[in-house]
Amino acid sequence: MQAFIEHLSKILEQRYILTQDEDKAPYLTDWRKRYIGKALAVLLPSTSDEVAAIVKLCAQNQVALVPQGGNTGFCGGATPDNSGKQVVLNLKRMNQIREIDIANQTITIEAGCILRALQEKALEHGFLFPLSLGAEGSCMIGGNLATNAGGTNVLRYGNARDLCLGLEVVTAKGEIWNGIKGLRKDNTGYDLRDLFIGSEGTLGIITAAVMKLYPLPVSQWTTLVACENIASTITLLNLFQKRASSLLTGFEMMTRESLDLNEKHFPHMANPLQGNSPFTVLIELSDHESEEHVRQLLETILEEAFEVKLISNAVIASNLTQANTFWHMREHITLAQAEEGANLKHDITIPLSSLDSFIQQTDALMRDKFPGVRIINFGHLGDGNLHYNIAPPLGVDPKIFNETNERQIHELVYGQVERCKGSISAEHGVGQLKLDGLRAHKGEVAHELMRALKTALDPQNILNPHKVVSI
Ligand SMILES: Cc1cc2nc3c(=O)[nH]c(=O)nc-3n(C[C@H](O)[C@H](O)[C@H](O)COP(=O)(O)OP(=O)(O)OC[C@H]3O[C@@H](n4cnc5c(N)ncnc54)[C@H](O)[C@@H]3O)c2cc1C
Repeated sequence: MQAFIEHLSKILEQRYILTQDEDKAPYLTDWRKRYIGKALAVLLPSTSDEVAAIVKLCAQNQVALVPQGGNTGFCGGATPDNSGKQVVLNLKRMNQIREIDIANQTITIEAGCILRALQEKALEHGFLFPLSLGAEGSCMIGGNLATNAGGTNVLRYGNARDLCLGLEVVTAKGEIWNGIKGLRKDNTGYDLRDLFIGSEGTLGIITAAVMKLYPLPVSQWTTLVACENIASTITLLNLFQKRASSLLTGFEMMTRESLDLNEKHFPHMANPLQGNSPFTVLIELSDHESEEHVRQLLETILEEAFEVKLISNAVIASNLTQANTFWHMREHITLAQAEEGANLKHDITIPLSSLDSFIQQTDALMRDKFPGVRIINFGHLGDGNLHYNIAPPLGVDPKIFNETNERQIHELVYGQVERCKGSISAEHGVGQLKLDGLRAHKGEVAHELMRALKTALDPQNILNPHKVVSI
């Protein structure tokens, strides 16, 4: 392998080839500290040509690569295995904005661009880039596309896939596919762009992308409302969809347990709604007409919801600072869970019509089989996306609890997901965490098709092997 490292130094300056343990360490563990890998080297290229040359060299030497962006993924997709023979390819130095096309309302950016920097660049030019998630200060657009990230604006603008028009990708042979086109229509055969989006670095390395921009709304109003049961939250969502249509940009559900956990670890994040109701919903309307128009619409819908007893309490943010506080409260739940200790995460989607039945049955089964467990359930309800997470009973060591019960708990949840015709991964992807889950629940034909694609595009299995599918 010495010869391989020497060859690398013809592609990258020595300081961008990390081989010392202390230099590699930050790149070898995932955000949740669930996986710790080893690597031959961590490589930090700054151009697509460098990425292509590295992949070519890896292909010649049969060295596997693990692409990495901000390393905020929840499924261990960006963490190398334990062999010490893989290389991590971190794209953070590829962070240039290549072009902003005002007339076409698109931005062309490199994969290592941090999501927040992209949002800010769009804002500078008077546009909205709507992808928004708790990790936006560190996740990167390449990682967002590789995981087809969702977040809080999917209800109105779609997920990362829906926001992407074109891609540049380095293939497993080390060739560069130039699909950098800002087209909203292109029916020239198979959709290669969509193949790479959501493939978690197993089919190619995304080096740049053309993303859609949107006009900035003139006004946004945010409210928190209290609901007594999940059925009411869904009826409320349907009411907002009917009355506000595309002005509805956020609909996030938080259970009492998830907000209690928030308050325990971040006391300044206390729920401003009095009454301690079982479900709190954060709703956001965005309008291109006027502040009065959206405020009036929001008040009218809330009045109707009160009248038909869908909600028992509501507070409208009086200014932007308060609106941000509401959003921070929602986003802090993930951080509160991390503070509390290891928990078993399930990022699932269920058709809205089956959500009530899913929650009732799964909660009952979980409490029956694992007495005392704490169910921390919250999520992007507008998309039917729940983060249905399980923490051990109070006083029980999370590590021991998880080691003993992880498999059974995942299977219980995934069984219920299958019963409700849902998906075991809504937005976080598969990585190594859900490799077995995908094999068991995707369906045999679909799984075989995925394996066939992987074999065709990466026959040597050098791109993020044993993530998503094994061949
Ligand atoms: C606090 C917090 C909140 C979060 N909230 C959300 C949320 O609301 N919605 C959501 O969807 N996710 C959420 N996430 C998960 C995570 O932020 C997303 O999955 C994000 O898209 C990952 O981006 P990243 O740059 O960190 O990718 P990484 O973690 O570095 O990589 C993720 C996967 O993509 C692959 N990859 C990375 N870059 C490339 C590339 N250029 N080419 C090919 N493959 C690549 C990696 O190999 C890996 O398989 C959250 C995470 C945190 C920590």
